[in-house]
Amino acid sequence: MNDKFRVGILGATGVVGQRFIQLLESHPQFQVSALAASDRSQGKTYAEACGWRLPGEMPESVKRIVVQPPAPPLDCDFVFSSLPGDVAKDAEEDFARAGYPVISNSSPHRMGTDVPLLIPEVNPDHVALIDTQRAARGYERGFIVTNPNCSAIVIVMALAPLHAKFGIASCVTTTMQALSGAGYPGVASLDATDNVIPFIGGEEEKIEAETLKLLGRIGDGTIDNAKMLVSAQCNRVNVTDGHMAAIRVKLAGKASLDQVREALASFTSAPQQLKLHSAPAKPIIVRDEVDRPQPRLDRDAGSGMSVTVGRIARDNVLDYRFIALGHNTIRGAAGAAILNAELLVAMKKLK
Ligand code: NAP
Repeated sequence: MNDKFRVGILGATGVVGQRFIQLLESHPQFQVSALAASDRSQGKTYAEACGWRLPGEMPESVKRIVVQPPAPPLDCDFVFSSLPGDVAKDAEEDFARAGYPVISNSSPHRMGTDVPLLIPEVNPDHVALIDTQRAARGYERGFIVTNPNCSAIVIVMALAPLHAKFGIASCVTTTMQALSGAGYPGVASLDATDNVIPFIGGEEEKIEAETLKLLGRIGDGTIDNAKMLVSAQCNRVNVTDGHMAAIRVKLAGKASLDQVREALASFTSAPQQLKLHSAPAKPIIVRDEVDRPQPRLDRDAGSGMSVTVGRIARDNVLDYRFIALGHNTIRGAAGAAILNAELLVAMKKLK
């Protein structure tokens, strides 16, 4: 070991957990030192417990780590969590109370009034809620920070520059979400093949609520939600990775089509200025071809951390419409949590 932070991964054997391990393999600041999963896996080495589903080999560095229960103490400085929602709620609170910072990708704490729901390009100032949280809950070294729902991240990344420049009065979005978003083994092949499923439990509510918090302003220790209307419909489609969203917006102010395109294409923010390791050079990539973005062609843009926006046009009902696409297990999950941790190190909240 060296001077890297030693990190634990809760839910390490799952779709998101494996992505954490892949992305952390050669990370300059973080080194995996502990892994946790269900009692199905506990007591086994990671190599025995995990059916590795990503291209390439399971990293040698994790193969012999013995999988633990997702409960403190764990041999690490902080934890990334990708536990199922019902397990994450209590487990994450137990870690925070025991003094571990928890950088979570799970949903139960996202809407907590004292919990930062973070996209480093969008609302880095919401990190200040950590102080509110510690004061309210009596945590000393520990805290909980979350990243948004995997579709909400893609949608809000595209809304943020427009909201900052012109204001958004309302947004209507329809998602086409990849199968890996449901975890492993996920949707049965007989349901997914030759099909679109117009229901993903809780997803529409999460997108509608999280968007308002993410685009809200932080006041004296609380978030004042963005004043806009958001309507979301979600579909599961037969794509392995990459969530796509068709988005229509009504702006509060006036903007030309060129100004809308320019606001998206020129967007850059704190992670780029701070040169965070996982920050893409361009958080939003605008494509002008008539048939882009596409999941297979664009999900890996910016090493999976860029959101690709295309089909920008005037809309006859609202003001403008466009398509946004992002990698759901990288920008939408593990990569998002790792970028959050990098921001927290830069802001000296992780020491
Ligand atoms: P997954 O593939 O089903 O993996 C679930 C993980 O949690 C596995 O490591 C599993 O361990 C562990 N686990 C299950 N039940 C447990 C229990 N009772 N106690 C302790 N550990 C338990 O799911 P996933 O797709 O990685 O999703 C994980 C979390 O991330 C969920 O909260 C999900 O909503 C969220 N998320 C997922 C995505 C995505 O694109 N997939 C995106 C954003 C957020 P075993 O292998 O031992 O069973």
